[in-house]
Amino acid sequence: MCVIRRTGGGFVHQCPGCNQLHWIVVGDDGHRWDGDLERPTFWPKFQNMSTGYSPMDKQQFHRHCSYYIVGGVIQFDADCTHPYAGKSMPMPEVPYTFLTGGPVAKAVA
Ligand SMILES: [Zn+2]
Repeated sequence: MCVIRRTGGGFVHQCPGCNQLHWIVVGDDGHRWDGDLERPTFWPKFQNMSTGYSPMDKQQFHRHCSYYIVGGVIQFDADCTHPYAGKSMPMPEVPYTFLTGGPVAKAVA
């Protein structure tokens, strides 16, 4: 079981709300990490925002995903634009697709 995977400048983890990987930058310019690989805690809160055009829906979309990671549990804010808004759940395993180059959204503090 691997819920975070080291990558340049930090980690990636799978976000069940966005159904994609989010990149966690760790260090002076990013987030803090408690050193736990199995049940990690990061702070401060993560904010992921993305906008774009959906050819399927023929309209612009705006996504917002913000959450805390505490003890290996993702605690989503109520204003997330995905179905996990306001919910908490254990971090899922980093999917194999990461190794083959899946989409990664950068988390900003
Ligand atoms: Zn997300």
